[in-house]
Amino acid sequence: PKYVYDFTEGNKDLKDLLGGKGANLAEMTNIGLPVPPGFTITAEACRHYLGHGRMPEGLEEEIGEHLAALEARMGKRLGQADDPLLVSVRSGAKFSMPGMMETVLNIGLNDDSVIGLAKQSGNDRFAWDSYRRLIQMFGKTVLGIDGELFEDAMDDLKGEREDTELDAGDLQRLVEIFKGIVRERTGRDFPACPREQMDLAVRAVFDSWNAPRAILYRRQERIPADLGTAVNIVAMVFGNMGPDSGTGVAFTRDPGSGRQGVYGDYLCNAQGEDVVAGIRNTVPLQELEKINPAAYRELLDIMATLERHYRDLCDIEFTIERGKLWMLQTRVGKRTAAAAFRIATQLVDEGLIDMDEAVTRVTGDQLAQLMFPRFAATAGNHRLTTGMNASPGAAAGRAVFSSERAVELAGQGEAVILVRRETNPDDLAGMIAARGVLTSRGGKTSHAAVVARGMGKTCVCGAEELEVDPRARRFTAPGGIVVNEGDVISIDGGTGAVYLGEVPVTPSPVARYFEGEPAEDELVEAVDRIMTHADSVRRLAVRANADTPEDAARARRYGAQGIGLCRTEHMFLGERRRLVEDLILAATPEERQAALDALEPLQTGDFTGIFAAMRGLPVTIRLIDPPLHEFLPDLTDLAVKVAVAGDAADDRDRRLLEAVKRLHEQNPMLGLRGVRLGLTIPGLFAMQVRAIAAAARQVEDARAEIMIPLVGAVQELEIVKEEAERILAEAGVAAAIGTMIEVPRAALTAGQIAEAAEFFSFGTNDLTQMTWGFSRDDVESAFFSRYLDLGVFGVSPFESIDREGVGRLMRVAVEEGRRTRPDIKLGICGEHGGDPDSVHFCHEIGLDYVSCSPFRIPVARLEAGRAAL
Ligand code: ADP
Ligand code: MG
Ligand code: MG
Repeated sequence: PKYVYDFTEGNKDLKDLLGGKGANLAEMTNIGLPVPPGFTITAEACRHYLGHGRMPEGLEEEIGEHLAALEARMGKRLGQADDPLLVSVRSGAKFSMPGMMETVLNIGLNDDSVIGLAKQSGNDRFAWDSYRRLIQMFGKTVLGIDGELFEDAMDDLKGEREDTELDAGDLQRLVEIFKGIVRERTGRDFPACPREQMDLAVRAVFDSWNAPRAILYRRQERIPADLGTAVNIVAMVFGNMGPDSGTGVAFTRDPGSGRQGVYGDYLCNAQGEDVVAGIRNTVPLQELEKINPAAYRELLDIMATLERHYRDLCDIEFTIERGKLWMLQTRVGKRTAAAAFRIATQLVDEGLIDMDEAVTRVTGDQLAQLMFPRFAATAGNHRLTTGMNASPGAAAGRAVFSSERAVELAGQGEAVILVRRETNPDDLAGMIAARGVLTSRGGKTSHAAVVARGMGKTCVCGAEELEVDPRARRFTAPGGIVVNEGDVISIDGGTGAVYLGEVPVTPSPVARYFEGEPAEDELVEAVDRIMTHADSVRRLAVRANADTPEDAARARRYGAQGIGLCRTEHMFLGERRRLVEDLILAATPEERQAALDALEPLQTGDFTGIFAAMRGLPVTIRLIDPPLHEFLPDLTDLAVKVAVAGDAADDRDRRLLEAVKRLHEQNPMLGLRGVRLGLTIPGLFAMQVRAIAAAARQVEDARAEIMIPLVGAVQELEIVKEEAERILAEAGVAAAIGTMIEVPRAALTAGQIAEAAEFFSFGTNDLTQMTWGFSRDDVESAFFSRYLDLGVFGVSPFESIDREGVGRLMRVAVEEGRRTRPDIKLGICGEHGGDPDSVHFCHEIGLDYVSCSPFRIPVARLEAGRAAL
């Protein structure tokens, strides 16, 4: 294969091969922008090197040919003594990994060529500055010497002076000191041979792919580990040649707000990393207009060209050498969620993209971020530190340092923030009780992060500046600030910020918009336009999982086109518990019927409210699903109560205890629940169906659908259906009858089940549990973070549908269900219904709708639109 591409040979679409930096340098070269010449060694060469432990056959020669062409073009050879060509050796993977990998500048300098460079440039100081930079960067990144040794040596020499105040003599002395450090640390001299410098640097860039911090970063950002990095060899241009030179970074628009304008920093008489390293204070890019008006105008022109070409916000790195502008990097820039929406619609208004494209430029995750409540004004609060933004939201409460204490204080009605070094499965109860979770260790796949995201709980993790002392029940923040148990702190899961004291929380403008407030600010207007377009292109309908009239009404405001899952179990809790107990304790059919008769009007009331809130839209009601003992008192509590009371124990308590013992199950998830309950307890399902029918008769335009849970065989469904149809017919009510597909057997026999089912709704929570054979409650806190670290899966199968396993069962069910009943309606009501990737999957396999919690409806609408484009 071809391992080396000249910049004139590549283009922006070759990121897999050339990496992002190389592909875009090639693109800029080809659209005629001033890029110093150079070439790219492919990521494929890197993969070969990392896999085999040596460079691929022929690579050295190929690099030699391209280097020779570069030398011919520049009219000088690499490191030539009287007039050296210098190059940079720059890493550049497919996905940007800021600061994770290495770059070495000024390759080609040695004791001879530094003199040549000084003569040619007429600038001694510049030549020695470049040489000391080479030894410093090369020493650190290629030879693995601690960078602080060089920095300390330079600081010693500088004293009180700025680095620009060092003269040629100082810098020459520094070169000697640096060479001494290299000799002392590596036992050999700094390599003088230019080609050897280059080859070693290339190798170091390849190796940096597997540096521990790069590995960690990839794991957190879910970047595949086997891509490798390309290497770019670029002719040097010099920003450190004097006051008419400099280097800078810029965005074509504000990545925070999306506003158009000039956003960037510039540093006079400096090279490369100086801007970000904070060696001297940079000036705002606007100042360049005064320093060098011609270069400034050219830069603005180029930024406009790049925006038109990439049709998106770009960020750039540039250098000015004696007044001449050079482009050193560009890419489509990262941006905040708010900016993503603003920029997408701005680009439409500027005629650069159409609305279809605008919808694909934003994501459901970004929309979700904009919907979370946020801190109103943080100005009055001291920011203690910033950790990783592991799970969004804003939370304030008293700091607590153990799970027990969290549960205790929350039980007294206190808002608490659980603070731990890291969490483990024992902390689960505390995490549930807390408003938010803060840890000082661990990244975005740590236990705290995974579990908090799963629970939708605000979490900041890896706040390494905090010293957490659980035993003393306090943590120490930078500046020696001590936060003791009970002190109030506030954490921002969107930014990772941690504040002292209580920061007030407000709903976001975007959430208020979905609640029905008019779109008055620019961001909300952008969201409105994009949502409207997404709705017009999507094929999937979006329904809500809602079981109260309030939730149903909210879902409707958020754009739900019906209810995909109305659970009925919560309707049996509270004061109705006693009626359920009566049902379970019933000794005769008469007693049982009496209990059911008491429940029926209450159920009718429940359904009437929901039908009214969803008037005209379909409402899928699932008949009772969970095991009965969930409605009974806790076995231990009750046993203790009865034992303590002794002979005086209440007769009802004794009978209840018997019932609880009788109903106790080893594996309730796989026990007597769902349709199994309906077939075991005569009259239970019938009561629910009668209530549905009665409610449907009371509400005009009620559209009931009755859903039977946990069906694994068509016979189960047939028995329930026959009875339900009889009741509906007697009441004169029409309602579709269908089933959940949540047991693997149901998916595998979907062709038969569709004979009896008018619709399927995939219950992907249970389907995932039963397909993998693990229960969510038990495994998420026990070993999921370990599994994520090991790469068993990239994301929890409870968050995003496991396409190969669970997804395969779904495909089978869709195909066979439709074969039996072509007009069968297909939906999903597991929590995956609101997960962006899962929504795309549901679109792909041809479902009719997704159903999710009311809060996720906008996300599902947007992603359904994106999936259709
Ligand atoms: P990163 O990926 O960390 O941004 P780069 O490869 O972009 O690393 O290099 C960092 C900086 O080094 C660039 O922004 C640029 O200022 C400087 N640099 C790289 N190559 C050259 C070159 N050929 N001439 C001048 N400066 C360069
Ligand atoms: Mg860069
Ligand atoms: Mg289920």
